[in-house]
Amino acid sequence: MTLLRFATRFAAVGALLGPFRSALGQDSIPHLTLSSDPFPLTEGALGWLLLRPSVWDSVTGGEAGGEPLYLEPSGIGQYRAVVAVPVESSDSLRVSVFLAREGRVDTVAGVVTVRQAGYPREVLAVAPKFAKPDSAAAARVRRENARSRQVSIASRNHPRLWQGPFQLPRATRITSAFGAARLYNGEVRSRHLGTDFAGAVGTPVLAAGRGVIAMVADFYLAGKVVYIDHGQGLVTAYFHLSRAEVTEGDTVTSGQRLGAVGQSGRVTGPHLHWVARFGTIAVDPMSLLALEKGDASGVAPDSSSRTLRLRSGQAQ
Ligand SMILES: [Zn+2]
Repeated sequence: MTLLRFATRFAAVGALLGPFRSALGQDSIPHLTLSSDPFPLTEGALGWLLLRPSVWDSVTGGEAGGEPLYLEPSGIGQYRAVVAVPVESSDSLRVSVFLAREGRVDTVAGVVTVRQAGYPREVLAVAPKFAKPDSAAAARVRRENARSRQVSIASRNHPRLWQGPFQLPRATRITSAFGAARLYNGEVRSRHLGTDFAGAVGTPVLAAGRGVIAMVADFYLAGKVVYIDHGQGLVTAYFHLSRAEVTEGDTVTSGQRLGAVGQSGRVTGPHLHWVARFGTIAVDPMSLLALEKGDASGVAPDSSSRTLRLRSGQAQ
């Protein structure tokens, strides 16, 4: 039964407790239970944090992985918030939550379980030879990284613009998945922080979700780029384009054409490199697709994670 599964799941995941539980009665201190959807969360991926405070408390905010929690009601007495698990996280993610009761706010801390993603590792036998940009190029790369970071920082203060499910920017073959690391002397020298899609120059690139075009630029490494701010810290970016067909400030909808595949920037051939970030945390963009799974009609496939979300009755 739906309700039983719900209860069991929370009991199994474990409680998040206020700081003075042992000294005071359980009812007199702020506490809540934490879970996630999916459970467990995955290293390098997005998911939902599920928060269930005691009946005496309400959740007013919080933080996970250095990024704020944007809470929304999700069923009776429950909230949910998008969380991003950084690559190379341990087996748990620390969460801080602000709980209010009778005009007083307490911060409680807890953890949710994280599954290691097992991203492929390529061990390099010889020292990597980096094509060293000259100092002018290096300075340019630093400036462009700062601009990119600024898009994410600004997005934290923007309302949620995305609605419904995210979609792929191209319906073609993935030529390189997110997360692969190159190691030398046991040290990660570089990591692929996007998903690459095949495509000939000029073929369409689509917006993965609704948002506002935050930046159109021509970068040293990424080439011609388009950044979409989806609000509440969520940003997607599209690299190496041959052209952009949107301008900064445009609102785009999911699936709207925003440009064309190219080979601009530092590439070996034409392809789309697709990026997703939650705040300043780079995540596997493919994990965007699972955030919302389509219609809000309440017809659930048989899965416990789906059950949890549909209990909310929240419109998308
Ligand atoms: Zn790539």
